[in-house]
Amino acid sequence: MSALCEIQHLSVTYFGERDVKAIEDLTLTIQPGEIVGLAGESGCGKSTLVKALTRLLENGEISGGKILFQGKDLTKATREEFRQLRWTRISLVTQSAMSALNPVLTIGEQLMDGIQAHTSMPKEQMWRRATELLELVEVDPARIRSYPHELSGGMRQRVMIAMALVLKPDLIIMDEPTTALDVVVQKQIIRKIKELQRQFSFSVLFITHDMSLLLSIADRIAIMYAGKIVEMASSDEIRTSPSHPYTQGLLNSFPSVFERRELMGIPGSPPSMVSPPAGCRFHPRCPVAKDTCRTLIPVESQLSSTHVAHCHLLTESEEKRYE
Ligand code: SF4
Repeated sequence: MSALCEIQHLSVTYFGERDVKAIEDLTLTIQPGEIVGLAGESGCGKSTLVKALTRLLENGEISGGKILFQGKDLTKATREEFRQLRWTRISLVTQSAMSALNPVLTIGEQLMDGIQAHTSMPKEQMWRRATELLELVEVDPARIRSYPHELSGGMRQRVMIAMALVLKPDLIIMDEPTTALDVVVQKQIIRKIKELQRQFSFSVLFITHDMSLLLSIADRIAIMYAGKIVEMASSDEIRTSPSHPYTQGLLNSFPSVFERRELMGIPGSPPSMVSPPAGCRFHPRCPVAKDTCRTLIPVESQLSSTHVAHCHLLTESEEKRYE
């Protein structure tokens, strides 16, 4: 099966008094119909990746690599080519529906706006489609004439999902779509996303800092730290055999629905990307760092057909196996 989206060796640089490489050499593949999770603390580059994928970067640009989407390199697409792709092939659900929705337009008008911008559908048909979409995300279709401020946070997020689905895209990027919601509504939204994904077979790139949420929704999970992916594996492998000390720290920072355990947290905070640490970028916070970690950049270890991680401890244990 050929990949829907292949991000190859992507680097993104922001320009200022000192240039900042917010993403460095990032490689990630999304298959058709797959939910890929991306986790990491604030400032690790998750939002920059979303902006690079949706061409919303401000004061920055893609400084290396490719984003192949259905075989076409999006880094070379013209503004018009990209506009054509947006909503029809790739759509976005952001964290704050209140700021993403237009406060002076009704929900129905906003849903129809998206359809109108990309199709020549007659008005009655657009209205029907907007109503169907609201039903699909379990919002009472009578709400079609409501303004965003008249809806609850959960309802607004459901409307955002309906908008993302409006033109049946192949990939929906969900950037912390449930972060602002309480846990009960969060659970309902996650159930709905899974249901819709099974029904329409679109792919999802689901971005969050919440590992327990990702374990419940993603097929595969990538862990990002200081602009790089440090571990990538199936959801099961991340849950049962996390191999990078940072992944282990993230998992220990959240309560698990699978087992009772003590919460530990990760000491310190993520590094400034203006001058990230040499060697392994996690070494100032890593509980098992060695001298080599301070100078040498870890290479990728292939732990199974679906599991890779970047840590000197793994390369050392591989070397020992072959001694
Ligand atoms: Fe820790 Fe070293 Fe592995 Fe980095 S390479 S995660 S510092 S043990």
